[in-house]
Amino acid sequence: MDYGISGKTALVTGAKKGIGYTAAVMFARAGVKTAFIDIEDTKEETEKLQKEGFDALPVKCDVSNKRQVKEAVEKIVSYYGCIDIAFNNAGIQTPQKPMHQITTDEYLKTINVDLSGIWYFMHYEIEYMLKQGSGVIINTSSQGGVTGFPGQAAYIACKHAVIGLTRTAAIDYAKNNIRINAVCPGAVLTPMTEELIQRNRDVETALLRDIPMGRLGNPDEIAHAVLWLASSGASFITGQALIVDGGFTVK
Ligand code: NAP
Repeated sequence: MDYGISGKTALVTGAKKGIGYTAAVMFARAGVKTAFIDIEDTKEETEKLQKEGFDALPVKCDVSNKRQVKEAVEKIVSYYGCIDIAFNNAGIQTPQKPMHQITTDEYLKTINVDLSGIWYFMHYEIEYMLKQGSGVIINTSSQGGVTGFPGQAAYIACKHAVIGLTRTAAIDYAKNNIRINAVCPGAVLTPMTEELIQRNRDVETALLRDIPMGRLGNPDEIAHAVLWLASSGASFITGQALIVDGGFTVK
């Protein structure tokens, strides 16, 4: 699928695995100069793409560390000269348990990665995009950004907050030629979901029962939505939370 984004520059967080990895690979193969950001080393992933002739840059960064985020954005700007597209996607889940049993440490860790991680990246991305005079940001929320989910109070609170942040920032920068949207994946087969299912097999049964399409999603089905939101095909779309969930939230 050609999204007409060849020659642009993108950063993707959480690019070692799952949705982030799939989206980053799709950006790179679409001719986008792509920074693979993750708390883990992404040299293996980027070298593979470089050998195929694509432009990919490994950037190690903990998204919950503001100093590291600033350095990561500076590194990408100095290497590629700009940031046209930012996919702020890295996230973690908390162990599943009722709200009052979630420890303060677990709560704060979740907030620091799933909300502050996006906040810090947006802060520095927008600073650069304002200087450039353009930019597109896509933040990963979740179907849990518009619904509740048992045993995931901290995670779900963050995912709701990501939508609020996206909507408000979209208004703040709409006249600056910066579009900001969120993507809300449903249950997608990635290492994160596999871990959740392995801990509790009932989760898979419950998910499959509640998804009208009767199956989990694949990471590329989220990545296609992200690439489209990043393209000029979505040029009049800002502040939206695009739900990609096989119909889960419309039941
Ligand atoms: P994943 O398979 O666990 O991949 C996430 C990647 O982000 C991993 O490489 C992870 O590294 C990295 N990461 C974690 N903490 C980080 C940090 N502090 N700094 C930088 N990188 C970090 O997850 P996924 O399923 O692809 O999920 C991606 C996003 O989609 C998340 O925001 C998630 O909440 C959201 N989402 C997923 C689903 C789903 O069904 N999969 C549904 C709704 C929303 P480590 O593995 O080392 O932690």
